[in-house]
Amino acid sequence: MSAPLHRTRPAGQGRALPDTQQGMRRRNLSRVMHTVGAEGPLSRAAVASRIGLTRAAVSTLVDELIRSGLLEELGPERPGRVGRPGSALAVSGNGPAGIGAEVGVDHLAVCAVDLRGRVRARAVRHVPNRDRSPEPVLGELTALIHRVLAEAEGEGLWPAGLAVAVPGLVARDARTVVRAPNLGWLDTDLGGLLPPGPPLTVANEANFGALAELWLGEETPRDFLHVSAEIGIGAAVVVDGRLLHGNRGFAGELGHVPVWPDGPACACGGRGCLEQYAGEEAVLRAAGLEPGEDRVGLLAGRAEQGDAEVRRALHDAGTALGIALTGAVNLLDPQSVVLGGALSGLAPWLLPSLRSELARRTTGPACPVTVSALGPEGPLLGAAHSVVRGVLDDPAAVAGRV
Ligand SMILES: [Zn+2]
Repeated sequence: MSAPLHRTRPAGQGRALPDTQQGMRRRNLSRVMHTVGAEGPLSRAAVASRIGLTRAAVSTLVDELIRSGLLEELGPERPGRVGRPGSALAVSGNGPAGIGAEVGVDHLAVCAVDLRGRVRARAVRHVPNRDRSPEPVLGELTALIHRVLAEAEGEGLWPAGLAVAVPGLVARDARTVVRAPNLGWLDTDLGGLLPPGPPLTVANEANFGALAELWLGEETPRDFLHVSAEIGIGAAVVVDGRLLHGNRGFAGELGHVPVWPDGPACACGGRGCLEQYAGEEAVLRAAGLEPGEDRVGLLAGRAEQGDAEVRRALHDAGTALGIALTGAVNLLDPQSVVLGGALSGLAPWLLPSLRSELARRTTGPACPVTVSALGPEGPLLGAAHSVVRGVLDDPAAVAGRV
């Protein structure tokens, strides 16, 4: 079993701290952590000048963070300089870790990410989860979580929280899967089915994928649409660096935007949804192929070999994506659209028709469409990093000293 867990708040969405002296102290602890995390190793003096506090004030904050195991001293900085050398500070590589987990239609995955953003342990299991009840699936996920925790704890890390990415709608309580059509789950409280202890956050996989892009992507803008796919198609809207959740937390259901209102019936109750044209299984059907385990690999391999049916199916899927994205782009005016998840592996054959459809239907200069470098790992990494960001945003909560 894992070690007793420290207290933390749900994963990092930048909750405002109270405007009191204690709130001020917690904000300053967070500023120190973020500064050292982004620019470290840094001396205390360098941190003080970066965040505009006195060296004495920063020393008090740093000492508290070192005692809590969140910062560590790397030893004298640049020996040989005139005057007393400062000690270089770095975020701890052996303190709290974010545990990310993903329930996919065909796989389960878990990883541990330390405060420096390094993946320190990982476990993946390929298993068909469609129409399985939640209990055995989450039982297998729990076994993977324990395996990753044991490996991480062997390296001196401890879990600050567990974040789980699911292919479905999640209630605002961040625990209950309201509906996951491709798993067949309805109103399932994951809190009671996962290991007790680590503070739990459950979110839609597209949301975690978008956060991974925001935090880890190269030159990702602050306003973008992130579109990803497995069997279903999900999207997330990031506005000024924050996720748009919507009234019930369901924002981003691009997969059920109608492309052709009289098209085939969809599991959602509608007709002609995007998922019926650009989901992995829909593209396989259109290309005359049987859905197997490695659907993207099969499509990409055939497209590379010049298979005309597959290329036509992907061209048509790109057109459908362009039509569905037209509404979102015209409504929200994002800086870019990012294709992530499985779509990133098919981008060479989707992009031409997607871009031309979008350009034809939107006003003004065409919205750029880019491809995520994170690929299918995005949601899992986003989940783990959301816990890490939660620690950087409010280190005092993790240290249990509030
Ligand atoms: Zn639908």
